[in-house]
Amino acid sequence: MRLTFLGTGDAFGSGGRFHTCILVEGESSAFLVDCGASAVTALQQRAVDTNAIGTVFLSHLHGDHFGGLPYVIMDAHFLRRRTAPLVVAGPPGTRARMLAMMEALYPGAWAAGWRFPLEIAELAPTRRWTRGETAVTPYVVEHESGAPAFALRFECGGKVFAYSGDTEWTGTLVEAARGTDLMICECNSYDRKIRYHTDLPTLMAHRPELETKRLIVTHLGPTMLAHRGALPFEHAEDGMVVTL
Ligand SMILES: [Zn+2]
Repeated sequence: MRLTFLGTGDAFGSGGRFHTCILVEGESSAFLVDCGASAVTALQQRAVDTNAIGTVFLSHLHGDHFGGLPYVIMDAHFLRRRTAPLVVAGPPGTRARMLAMMEALYPGAWAAGWRFPLEIAELAPTRRWTRGETAVTPYVVEHESGAPAFALRFECGGKVFAYSGDTEWTGTLVEAARGTDLMICECNSYDRKIRYHTDLPTLMAHRPELETKRLIVTHLGPTMLAHRGALPFEHAEDGMVVTL
């Protein structure tokens, strides 16, 4: 399984980074984890064939994590002439928020229909959901986004990895990370505690609780970027590829 970090930035694009978007390529399928507002540009820059992506998993409903979907969907419809089904799997409320976002940005586009089946799946906390060779289990985390926010644990091709989404430290991260080959954890702030986000001292204090073979931090804010040459954890960069 191959993970490509297409976007590793915070909401503000700090450091010129794209919004959160991770491409996961397995034996016979590919999926995205989050699709932030600038994801369509990151996908184009890396020449990713989005027609090969079957599912877009969403950790939570903030623009820097799901705001790229209208552009990815319209690109699929108008330019790539997609015919294969696309599944968007996110927290409860995903359907209503997707429709509202699309209507605000491109009124009438959704009602006119797409040339491919677009399915929205709303995931339930701790309920394992399977699609093809991929299974995901969501865990509720501490992040206010108008809907439950999830950490997501993926099983695919015999490998397991977890992604925190955006959150301050919470015990469900321990559950999501248990026995994983990789844990991708947001770490927005170098020193200051920020509500609903993780800071480095807190993550360092809890690192022993995370039973994972490898920890990579992402969603780095300006203070983390200022210290990125001397962080105690591996950190993600746009374009970085990890093979599990
Ligand atoms: Zn967020």
